[in-house]
Amino acid sequence: MRVGLLGAGQLAGMLADAGIALGMTHTLLSPVPDSCAAPRGDFVCGDFDDVQALARLTDGVDVVTYEFENVPLAAVEWCADRVPVRPSAAALRVAQDRLSEKRFFQHLGIPVPAYTAVNSLDELHQAVNRHGVPAVLKTRTFGYDGKGQVVVRDTAPQSLSVAWDTIGRVPAILEELVSFQRELSVIAVRAIDGSQAFYPLNENWHREGILRLTVGRAGDPRQGLAEEYARRLLADLDYVGTLALELFEVNGRLLANELAPRVHNSGHWTIEGATTSQFENHMRAICGLPLGPTGQPRPAAMVNLVGSVPDREFVRRIPGAVLHAYGKSESPGRKVGHITLVGDEDEQDRFMARIACALRHAGEAGIADAIDPGGADTPDRVAEAAPPD
Ligand code: AMP
Repeated sequence: MRVGLLGAGQLAGMLADAGIALGMTHTLLSPVPDSCAAPRGDFVCGDFDDVQALARLTDGVDVVTYEFENVPLAAVEWCADRVPVRPSAAALRVAQDRLSEKRFFQHLGIPVPAYTAVNSLDELHQAVNRHGVPAVLKTRTFGYDGKGQVVVRDTAPQSLSVAWDTIGRVPAILEELVSFQRELSVIAVRAIDGSQAFYPLNENWHREGILRLTVGRAGDPRQGLAEEYARRLLADLDYVGTLALELFEVNGRLLANELAPRVHNSGHWTIEGATTSQFENHMRAICGLPLGPTGQPRPAAMVNLVGSVPDREFVRRIPGAVLHAYGKSESPGRKVGHITLVGDEDEQDRFMARIACALRHAGEAGIADAIDPGGADTPDRVAEAAPPD
């Protein structure tokens, strides 16, 4: 089969790697000439609204998929008039607008943080009066990795005016700032025949709105509830492919933050840590193949590499660590790779120490201290943590 990919960044790259292993071939479209996934197939460099480029993408492919939700809806609809697009344009439409996404969750009985639509500075004043502070002001569209959002901490007119300017005076929502115990995500996948599978819950740590660490939590007590919510999304959208639902855990309840109609950063550990990766299962689903098992046989985690890739030799010295460098140029705030860590079932403590070691090397000392207080202070940890001579 031949698969068309809208986008050619790291997600498209990992999808294509999975596709290549399954014997598929790929055409990729991106406006960025040096896209990191370009070498994984026939690369079309063009804008998503360039009909000639879209025609080259769809030419000879059996199915089209997309790697991120900010690809223009019109491009997906153009492709869908010619070849099957999975997941559908309908799923993308919901996920592109935070307001429609929130309403969709509510329609399906999935709880969300309290929110209000905000279209002007006046409406921001009213919304802040209703919700109080702290609250988060988020653009309805084009937000990702904490971009397009600002925390509102006081009600002074000057502060609200600054917040409104910061997000660019565009249609937005104001949300309560949730005081969650944990951030979780569930990754679900549904095949063309309606069969579905769910990965173990991910526990996620963010800093500055960017995911830094994910730990796969096989057997988590919230698995059933998260799956139930994901199940409702899959069924209502008649979804085909991999989907991620991001959640806040508050006193045993789960509040939906957002959904991603695609493979997700919190699922990268599944490459080495699950029986079938989220990428392989996405390709299987969209190509009409049966899904692979989604179990997590052993402890697994992922540390994101944001801004720069650490010394490879150092990463190799951490047992069970695999470095994925995306081949992107390094710049602050840019996701340039990740480290997957896998461990043995009976060594949870040592496993957390290894995660912390990788985190410290990735510049995330704060999160490392939170999960492994005391840090690399025992001989075996120091041995694992020591940089090469
Ligand atoms: P988002 O782009 O909505 O996924 O937000 C990025 C990150 O900001 C989330 O993963 C949270 O860590 C934080 N965040 C977003 N919205 C809220 C909220 N309403 N309450 C608390 N934290 C939030």
